[in-house]
Amino acid sequence: MKKLLITVLIIFATITSVSFAEVNPVLKSTRTRLIEVTKKASKTLSVNACKHPSNKISKINYKYLSTAKHTYTKRCNSCGVNIQFNVAENHMFTNGKCVYCGYCTHSNISKKDYKNISDTSHTYTKYCTTCGQNLQLNVKEGHSYNGGVCICGKPNPAFEYAKQYLESFKDPLALTETIAKNQQESEMARWKILQDTQTKCFEIQQDVSVNQTKTHDKMFSKWSEYIRP
Ligand SMILES: [Zn+2]
Ligand SMILES: [Zn+2]
Ligand SMILES: [Zn+2]
Ligand SMILES: [Zn+2]
Repeated sequence: MKKLLITVLIIFATITSVSFAEVNPVLKSTRTRLIEVTKKASKTLSVNACKHPSNKISKINYKYLSTAKHTYTKRCNSCGVNIQFNVAENHMFTNGKCVYCGYCTHSNISKKDYKNISDTSHTYTKYCTTCGQNLQLNVKEGHSYNGGVCICGKPNPAFEYAKQYLESFKDPLALTETIAKNQQESEMARWKILQDTQTKCFEIQQDVSVNQTKTHDKMFSKWSEYIRP
């Protein structure tokens, strides 16, 4: 408010001097008086200037400076004046990211958005789990199967083959026919094999269901033993 008043007074004094002061000595003296009052008022203002008490100082406007430091502006909340600019300070890292300026070292890397692109490989996006920024797109990598399927969704071909093979055992007749055809067995021999296969099928099913820890692999090897000539 005081500042505003002073500005008004200065404007008034200026107008007065231009318009009338030269011709009217009374107005001229008024102008001189106004200037004196203005000077006094500004002197009073400077005496009352904020001392920027330390408990009212805050740091604002953080900006990245280097991998080690950022800068900030020192501000007095008491008078609202920015006291100091571009003050350098070390980053304060939490989980690889500065809590003040936001600078991230991208030290927590992960992969996402897998895409199956061929029989042998997929692509993924490399990103920082701290700030979420994508660091590299379409990175190529070979499929890797931890079980039946790759992380990109591609089924393990070996696993698929084994599954199909095991599936075929569920139909003893089809299996027997295959064996019979391959071995060129006679009618009687074929019938014998069918009987044996059905019996064996039942035995294996019993065995596997009794012991849950026995895996498909076990079933597979048992069958391998059985059908091996
Ligand atoms: Zn202040
Ligand atoms: Zn920082
Ligand atoms: Zn990051
Ligand atoms: Zn894959």
